[in-house]
Amino acid sequence: MSIKNFAQTLERLEQKRGQLMTPFFETAPLIVGSITQTKGRCGKPTCACVEQPTHDITLLLTSENKQRKSQLIRKDDVEEVLAQWHRYKDLKQALTSLKELNQEEIAILLQIIQERKRTYEKL
Ligand SMILES: [Zn+2]
Repeated sequence: MSIKNFAQTLERLEQKRGQLMTPFFETAPLIVGSITQTKGRCGKPTCACVEQPTHDITLLLTSENKQRKSQLIRKDDVEEVLAQWHRYKDLKQALTSLKELNQEEIAILLQIIQERKRTYEKL
């Protein structure tokens, strides 16, 4: 490949990098952690869920300073929490893509070095 072709590929990667970075500059809040949707109990002693958990519940699992925390999300908050959590997941995905892109870029730069490499012979 010629240096010009390498340059075109690198430019394409730069454009892609710009696209991947854009959502990081938004200011909307993010929920960081993992979310589990499962069945739970309401706590009322007369409810059928005493036998077996029947209520849909959403749990947010987070960890800070190696302390794991599980929080029950109020029904009214579920939609917004999920939206904020999906935003976080999207950024995580973008990070993975950026890492791949960096590796691709490094590989091309190494190829350029190989292309330009010369061996020394007595002048
Ligand atoms: Zn119940």
